[in-house]
Amino acid sequence: MFQNNLEFAKKCDVEDSLSHFRDQFHIPKNPAGEELIYLCGNSLGLQPKITSEYIKKELEDWANLGVEGHTEAEHPWLPYHEFLTQSMAKLVGAKPNEVVIMNTLTTNLHLMMVSFYQPTKTKYKIIVESDAFPSDKYAVESQLRFHGFDPKEGLVLWKPRKGEELCRFEDLEEIMEKQGDEIALLMIGNTNYYSGQSFPLKKITELGHKYGCMVGFDLAHGAGNIEPGLHDTGADFAVWCSYKYLNSGPGSLGGCFVNERHAHNKDLKRFTGWWGHNKQTRFNMRHEFDLLPGAEGWQLSNPPILSMAAIRASLDTFEKAGFENLRKKSIKLTGYLEFLVDNLNDDRINIITPRNPEERGCQLSIQVISADKSLHTKLTEAGVISDWREPDVIRIAPVPLYNSFEDVYHFAQRLKEILN
Ligand SMILES: *Cc1c(COP(=O)(O)O)cnc(C)c1O
Repeated sequence: MFQNNLEFAKKCDVEDSLSHFRDQFHIPKNPAGEELIYLCGNSLGLQPKITSEYIKKELEDWANLGVEGHTEAEHPWLPYHEFLTQSMAKLVGAKPNEVVIMNTLTTNLHLMMVSFYQPTKTKYKIIVESDAFPSDKYAVESQLRFHGFDPKEGLVLWKPRKGEELCRFEDLEEIMEKQGDEIALLMIGNTNYYSGQSFPLKKITELGHKYGCMVGFDLAHGAGNIEPGLHDTGADFAVWCSYKYLNSGPGSLGGCFVNERHAHNKDLKRFTGWWGHNKQTRFNMRHEFDLLPGAEGWQLSNPPILSMAAIRASLDTFEKAGFENLRKKSIKLTGYLEFLVDNLNDDRINIITPRNPEERGCQLSIQVISADKSLHTKLTEAGVISDWREPDVIRIAPVPLYNSFEDVYHFAQRLKEILN
């Protein structure tokens, strides 16, 4: 169904009902003013053109209203995070009371582990996937140490088999059969940032719960990319960032999901701050803490409105495009990338990412055997912005909101030229 020529790529772009969204983003350019082939939205999503207006509005309200902006701004700052909840909850498949935007990803991961990692002497281990994002691994190891355990014993890795690149669910089942009684928490990154593999979240959650474990997911590479269907998975918690597929700007705030079964549990241990206090009486500054139900109850501080304005701009763009439409395009766009890479017929190339679209998002991790980082440098010189992971993997993420079939075609051409 795909063809390896520019006319075909152009035809796909003409037929693409979402192609006009590209014009709503700033596409980085080279010094000569030509658009780069930006395939790095898995690392930092591009800026929607409306973002500056949304931020400017808050700056104006601040200039004109000062502190009154908390209640009198067009989008009052006190409840500002609530303006993001509905769209964000929809994107990750959660109920609104299960989602809150706050802090940054690693901070939220710690806050969630404070509540959901409650080890005992015998049930204390944490499972992560073996190629977990380093920050997640550091966070998990430090939680183990914080509770007095040695990460060498407490951290259990779910690994691919020898000679394989992807993790098999059966192997996770086997770990649970052997060590389930000692495991307190499963914390899995989805989609995996390195391999691009998406895991079966519901099956993992059911498996973890069967052994009395808590289950949490890091959706840094899932939110805005795949449909994680969080509520239906039954997961206890999840965290994600908003600067990758959610296009909300470098270091922007993260999202957090807490399953509604924990919404009213006041006995859960947690770290608290005034933003988790009952909104009606927060400013009475009373001494007793009156916890908000749901995910909002984990908020600590009054949040940075300028960052939230950028998230609102991004979420409005997702609302306009419709996530189902985006996902449909994404499957085709990544399928085309896969077809073109396969068509290079180069024995050095091995796509690590699963072939099944259900088991991946938009990213393909392309291993180029015996290549080194100079390959990435040459791609950059050829106008392709991609991402390199040692020892020999380029990660290419065509994003359905702003990447075109033509982008993908030109990438494959340039890769071919460089490899020859
Ligand atoms: C990007 C990413 C992070 C980054 O964490 P921050 O706290 O936002 O700096 C953490 N974990 C995963 C899986 C990521 O992909």
